[in-house]
Amino acid sequence: MSDVFCLIANGDIPCAKVYEDDDVLAFLDLSQVTTGHTLVIPKKHCANILEADDETVERVFKVARNIGKALMKMGAKGVNILANANEAAGQTVFHFHVHVIPRTGNDENLVMAFKEHDTSSIDFKALANEINSNL
Ligand code: 5GP
Repeated sequence: MSDVFCLIANGDIPCAKVYEDDDVLAFLDLSQVTTGHTLVIPKKHCANILEADDETVERVFKVARNIGKALMKMGAKGVNILANANEAAGQTVFHFHVHVIPRTGNDENLVMAFKEHDTSSIDFKALANEINSNL
């Protein structure tokens, strides 16, 4: 399987590298939705976080957390650390990656909102139990 992030991991496509070790690579996202927006990937291909093994998830998120801390040292007021899985969730590159997005509280290019809506028909306890029973 060869996707654009496999090519970046192999050095076949250039990137602005932030961090690298034997298993993980971090580089600046082309979009720079906020300045410093970084992607963290496993070098070994897997399609998304749902397909990744525990060790890969741990390694990638540990690096993402550390990059979040570095961005805070550089002046960010917060960070979003997130992974999109599948097209319906906005995934466009089908190689597991974690976005580390620095936030200043004044980020014009990025809107993330959980809009208020009516939740009165939701049985929270039953829903929580259903998710738990599928773990
Ligand atoms: P997704 O929507 O799959 O969660 O995020 C994919 C991200 O990869 C996007 O934010 C996009 O800007 C970034 N991206 C896509 N192609 C390239 C590339 O060739 N180089 C870099 N640095 N980022 C890329």
